[in-house]
Parts: sequence; structure tokens; C-alpha cells
Amino acid sequence: MDLHPNIPLKNFMTMRLGGPALFMAEAQTPEEIAEIYHFANSRSLPVFVLGGGSNVVANDQGFAGVVIHIRIPGFDVIADDLNSTTVRVGAGEIWDETVKRTVDMHLSGIEAMSAIPGTTGAAPVQNVGAYGQEIADSLQSLTAYDSQTDTFVTLQNADCDFSYRDSIFRGSEKGRYVITSITLKLSKSSPQPPFYDALQKYFDDHGVHAFTQEIVRNAVIDIRTNKLPDPKLLPNSGSFFKNAIIEDWKLNELRTSYPDMPAYDMGDGMLKLSTGWLIEQAGLKGKVIHGMRVHDKNSLVLINESAGSYADLANAREEIIGVVRDKFGVQIEQEPLEI
Ligand SMILES: Cc1cc2nc3c(=O)[nH]c(=O)nc-3n(C[C@H](O)[C@H](O)[C@H](O)COP(=O)(O)OP(=O)(O)OC[C@H]3O[C@@H](n4cnc5c(N)ncnc54)[C@H](O)[C@@H]3O)c2cc1C
Repeated sequence: MDLHPNIPLKNFMTMRLGGPALFMAEAQTPEEIAEIYHFANSRSLPVFVLGGGSNVVANDQGFAGVVIHIRIPGFDVIADDLNSTTVRVGAGEIWDETVKRTVDMHLSGIEAMSAIPGTTGAAPVQNVGAYGQEIADSLQSLTAYDSQTDTFVTLQNADCDFSYRDSIFRGSEKGRYVITSITLKLSKSSPQPPFYDALQKYFDDHGVHAFTQEIVRNAVIDIRTNKLPDPKLLPNSGSFFKNAIIEDWKLNELRTSYPDMPAYDMGDGMLKLSTGWLIEQAGLKGKVIHGMRVHDKNSLVLINESAGSYADLANAREEIIGVVRDKFGVQIEQEPLEI
């Protein structure tokens, strides 16, 4: 176990903010995770699990405990039949490399989630999704260290209680499990239309009528490159706000004043609003608030242009939430978790 004291968290966050971690330790194997927990428990220190730092923000005080940086490798085919291939992938593998490997194997299921930053083990935490796919659709099971019982467990898809950008890992069991590997069951069939609106439009505009996993991946990368800032050049955490979920009566009320308000039916009388649209209509697109710029191509994204501290980010967040609430009566929420 390799423990490093007093490590600046901002160097591990794509938002480039955050104070120091008391200790940071890299885990290359599941056993090292258990060892690090034993060390932390023996000193009554809290533990935080970190992947690529692309969906988490750290405050200025940092973290007075042990941050485990997950680096567990591995990519193995564990089952194969006429229609599908099942792969098990180590939690520390870069997610986009996992996607690329499965696309190279002509497998379908995660190709539309190309170019999402971060690690493979973090993907189930918020049930990552993009362009009509989410990991809940392909994840068969995962292995994890259970910090409550100090054992290694296998959780099936249904145990994870996946929903829109949510799972037990950021909900009811937050902080309990450290994911060590995930198992994905992927299809050997080619991707088929109809595709998610923005992807379909891209294919229509480019005259694409035959589809492979690679064609979908390349299209998604092209769309994303034009729309999302690269965190290496412009620090950001992707969508800083979740799309708001409201009841149908509320949408009817809102549409009397805003007939063009986009909404996606989620069933059971619930609708998903485009929070980007709300922020844009509230006049905040492109604005710089406390050093954070509301991205001019996607208002869900906040870019750290000149924020000196987490406090600037928190002030910007509260201002944006307040402006949207005052204009629409809709409460929007931050997507990245707080360390
Ligand atoms: C430019 C940009 C675009 C993005 N686009 C998308 C998108 O299209 N769709 C989408 O869903 N997300 C998107 N994101 C968000 C982010 O990339 C994903 O949520 C990603 O899965 C986070 O991975 P990470 O390794 O960086 O996790 P981190 O940010 O390090 O951690 C996120 C959370 O997961 C926990 N965690 C991390 N690893 C583990 C583990 N092994 N076991 C248990 N808990 C763990 C952490 O404790 C934390 O709570 C985007 C982010 C950026 C910066």
C-alpha cells in the first residue's frame, strides 16, 4: 500500500478545484482497497473513492481522510454465444478505452457512450448515459468491496436500482461499495435506427444510412467534440446540472407561458425537462458568474475560466439555481458529487 500525504485534490479533478487530501493511495488490486480501508479504520479516518475526477467536485478544505485512487486494470471475455459476448472490465480502466475495445470487437450496447470521461468503475455510480444508451442496459453484474462487512461481493443489475443518472451507489448505499470490476453483456447485432434525436439528425445531415458500432462511435465523438469542452483545455465536470424531472401538471402550467418548452416523457406522469434550455432561456448562456462560464454551446456545462476556489463555484451554482427557480418555479440540482 502506497500512501501519499497532503495531495492537492485539484490536480485530480477535471474542474481543477479543491484543497488537499490528508492521504491519497492508489489501488491496483481489489485486495489493496481492503488494506487501505483497514488503515483508515484503524485511524478513524473517512475514505473517499476517486476515479477520473470528472463527476466530482472538491471543496477548498479538501478531505481530512484517505482518498483511494482506483487503478484496477483488466479486460476479459468471460462468455460468448451466437448473439452476445460478455466482458468483465477492471474498475480502473478508462471508460472510453473500454468502449473502443468493445466497438473494435463489433459489439453493441455502449458505443453511443463513447468519449465520456472517467473510469469504467465509476460508470455505474450515476448510471452514465448518452445518446439513448445507459450502462444499466448492458451491465449484467459488478464486483465490489463492501466496506460495511469487509468482504467482496457480486451485485446483479437489479441490486443496483438504476434510474436516470442514479443508482444505490450515489443513493441509499452511498459510500458503502467500491466497485472493482463490471460485467457487460453486449450484442453482436449491428446498431439499428431509430437513433436518439441528435444522433439521427447527424446521420440524416451526413447522409448515413448503414450503421455499424464504429459508425455510431465516430458520429458520437464528432458531435461531442463540437459541443463539449475538453476538460484538459477548459476545466469542467461535463453537465453540472441534472435535467429536471417534473410532474405532468407542472409542465401543463409552464407551457401556458412557454409553449416551446422541451420535455421528454418518462412514464408514470413524469417528464424530463431540458435544464440547459431553462438556463439558456433565463439569459445565462455564455455568462461568466464568479469565474465560472456557462458554456455557450451547452448551458448545462460550467467551465472554470477564472474561479479561484470552490467557493466561487458554489456561489455561481446558487446564483444559477436561484435565477432558474425565480423564472420557472423549477428546482434544478447539481450533478457532480461532492467530495
Ligand atoms: C466533458 C464531460 C462530459 C461528460 N459527459 C457525460 C455524459 O455524456 N454522460 C454521463 O453520464 N456523464 C458524463 N460526464 C460525467 C462523468 O464523466 C461520468 O459520471 C463518469 O462516469 C465519472 O467517472 P470518473 O471516473 O471521473 O468518476 P469520479 O468523478 O472520480 O467519481 C464520481 C463518483 O463515483 C464514485 N466512484 C468512482 N469510482 C468508483 C468505484 N470504483 N467504486 C465506487 N464508487 C466510485 C466517486 O466516489 C464519486 O462519487 C461527463 C463529464 C465531463 C467532464
